[in-house]
Amino acid sequence: MQELIVNLHMHTVYSDGTGRHADIAEQALKSGLDVIIVTDHNVWTQGFEGYHSKGRRRVLMLVGEEVHDQARQPQKNHLLVIGAESEMATFAREPQRLIDLVNQRGGLSFIAHPIDPALKLFNEDDISWEDWEVDRYTGLELWNGFSELKNVVDSRLGALFYAFFPQYLAHGPEPELLARWNDLLAGGRRVVAVGGSDAHSLHKRMGLLRKTIFPYHFHFQTVNTHIFTPDPLTGDLQTDRNMVYQALRRGNCFVGYDLPAPTNGFRFTAQTSSGTAWMGDELVLEGSATLQIRLPMETDCRLIKDGTLVKSWHRYQICTYTTNEPGVYRVECLISYLGKNRGWIYSNPIYLRAPASSAFTTN
Ligand SMILES: [Zn+2]
Ligand SMILES: [Zn+2]
Repeated sequence: MQELIVNLHMHTVYSDGTGRHADIAEQALKSGLDVIIVTDHNVWTQGFEGYHSKGRRRVLMLVGEEVHDQARQPQKNHLLVIGAESEMATFAREPQRLIDLVNQRGGLSFIAHPIDPALKLFNEDDISWEDWEVDRYTGLELWNGFSELKNVVDSRLGALFYAFFPQYLAHGPEPELLARWNDLLAGGRRVVAVGGSDAHSLHKRMGLLRKTIFPYHFHFQTVNTHIFTPDPLTGDLQTDRNMVYQALRRGNCFVGYDLPAPTNGFRFTAQTSSGTAWMGDELVLEGSATLQIRLPMETDCRLIKDGTLVKSWHRYQICTYTTNEPGVYRVECLISYLGKNRGWIYSNPIYLRAPASSAFTTN
């Protein structure tokens, strides 16, 4: 399997971002990304997909959109739509219908910034996801690199601090969202977790100062989605787009916060008598399974089964766990950075199913 670093969920001048597609691609090349997925608000921008290269490096730019009902107040229910290959914003009013239409077109849908509280200080509304009764979506954005600001800022001074020292911002996914993800998984659903940057590269005026806050290149080095594909990228747009979307659809990926230390090389697999499962895979468990976790460096790691901690390791690099219990297994890793223990890696689950039980519901 090939590991590719994907940064998804970003805005250009076609919505409320400040960069053009070409500028963003240039920043992505400098940041060493393999794939970027642009998602402007309620507009599917056409004609920008393809490879950008500089020297020996290249980055694949793909284009989806972030859809929400603009007539709704507050403007909740943001959905990342990827791979539908048509304009889907006209269906924003009914989230379930939108999700079903995206599926019909072979696309993917991820609930964006599911918990995004109001920030009264700056007249920002709560734009969390509201319609949790929806079904058949691909997954959710477990960690949003930009909206985390609304969760951590409590004063103007605090906002100014993070504008100048953005490296202090990221702490990890909201505990409430992790709990909701656990509940969805425990209900027998397959829900893929991705990390999104929500990069806008906003230009702000602060007194006499003009500053670009949270620029694209900053976001590209922070919360990324690392995907696994069976083959390396070929250079052919259609082939590679399909491969990237297949990995995201299956959940063959993990969320990595790459700023404290690169998360490349993280692996979580399960070996059973019937084969090896990677993150996102489902296996029928006959006998026992050996779960293996390999970390890029020694750190703290925990294994979670059906939402409950089953084992934790302190400063380990290789962790193993043998089980004969079916369940949904996933891994979380923490890292010490800038004086705090912060979230570092969040794997998608491995689904170990009892022989007689029905398959997990594929969205
Ligand atoms: Zn949004
Ligand atoms: Zn966004």
